Amino acid sequence: MNHFDIRDGEMHAEGVSIRELAERVGTPLYVYSSATFERHFQVFSQALWAQDALQSPKNEAPLIAYATKANSNLAVLQTLAEQGAGADTVSEGEIRKALTAGIPPERIVFSGVGKTDEEMAFALKTGIYQLNVESKPELERLSHVAASLGLVAPIVIRINPGVGAGGHAKITTGGAKDKFGVSAREAIALYGQAAADPNIAPMGIACHIGSQITDLAPMQAAFSKMRGWVQELRAGGLSVERLDLGGGLGVPYFNMSEPPSPEDFAQMVALTVGNLGVRYTFEPGRLIAANAGILVSRVIHIHEREDSGQKFLVVDAAMNDLIRPAMYDAYHDIRPVVAVQTNETATYDVVGPVCETGDTFTRGRDLPALKAGDLVAFMSAGAYGAVMGSEYNSRPLAPEVLVRDTDWAVVRPRPSYEEMMNREVLPEWLRPHRVRAD
Ligand SMILES: *Cc1c(COP(=O)(O)O)cnc(C)c1O
Repeated sequence: MNHFDIRDGEMHAEGVSIRELAERVGTPLYVYSSATFERHFQVFSQALWAQDALQSPKNEAPLIAYATKANSNLAVLQTLAEQGAGADTVSEGEIRKALTAGIPPERIVFSGVGKTDEEMAFALKTGIYQLNVESKPELERLSHVAASLGLVAPIVIRINPGVGAGGHAKITTGGAKDKFGVSAREAIALYGQAAADPNIAPMGIACHIGSQITDLAPMQAAFSKMRGWVQELRAGGLSVERLDLGGGLGVPYFNMSEPPSPEDFAQMVALTVGNLGVRYTFEPGRLIAANAGILVSRVIHIHEREDSGQKFLVVDAAMNDLIRPAMYDAYHDIRPVVAVQTNETATYDVVGPVCETGDTFTRGRDLPALKAGDLVAFMSAGAYGAVMGSEYNSRPLAPEVLVRDTDWAVVRPRPSYEEMMNREVLPEWLRPHRVRAD
């Protein structure tokens, strides 16, 4: 469910016409719906908060730590912060953004396989909820950093449960050969080592097995292993107070695909790992953000090969704006922004202007017949879209617009060409030759 609907023949984000936004802000541009972000956060949280088996012994509801990397625009983060969201972060930059957006440190989780000493020190001084430790060298460095600051680091150990899942090999993280986390054997040894370390407070264990998971079975398999490991640690005399179950729940990118509902997910979790006497954490990213955003683009022209009749719909968005099709073979629904008057359809390869064959959003897609100047929307582009944008081919970053009801604001402007160039600095020895436009 989202808030991008056709009204009076035109796509709207809530009460705002996408055509008008495209005219005011220019294309390509990202458009986000506040109501959709809020709704997704509430539907997911309420489903988990409603499960008695998932209350902590101190009556704390599960921590819903939005995976910041899916969409880390400050306006998006603040919208979610106001709904009670925490943040799952993977860099100092993300921690800083979460704090700036008003997410309290006690709702911030720090994951990732390569946290630097500086990042760990920043996280510890900030007083975040926990660091999700992913390896032995990381635990040992963290111990030194905590000792040097005279602090105790609250951690959970990320276990790689050996159950990989996800929509593509590049977003599967729980396979035994993926770089994330440690094996259960190693985790149990590390937990003991952490418990004996005065600068580390081991609070529990974590897993995150992949992204765009559309089947509960692999998650259930991983979670039931987690239950066993909680019990094994306790049998060894260690205290386990937290269980972090990661993110990964998929969203419908196709009209016909139906991922499990948050209610089904919550029920499965309660049945599989409920009543363990722990505080639970969840880290949804895509589920909150994907369908809350679209990428709007204008058709530059249609190039039809004379010999084969192959039609290229050349649009002004490209892989630098939305890399998911190039990187993960991802599918995005492509819809005309202004309802097309004819029933005529055509088969297009939809491509951007970047000089890479990979800059192909889709091949052989049947769409309503379009013409130069028409606007199209790449649907479900709110997660892993703008955040992965680059200025490859010296194309300015696409701007981001946040809509709230009939109101809208540019929440990241498109840089001008001057701004792009002024970020680069010529060395002294080239300066006499510098030719400037001004
Ligand atoms: C990416 C990531 C998430 C979020 O994954 P989604 O599929 O977007 O829900 C959660 N936790 C960790 C550790 C991650 O790396």
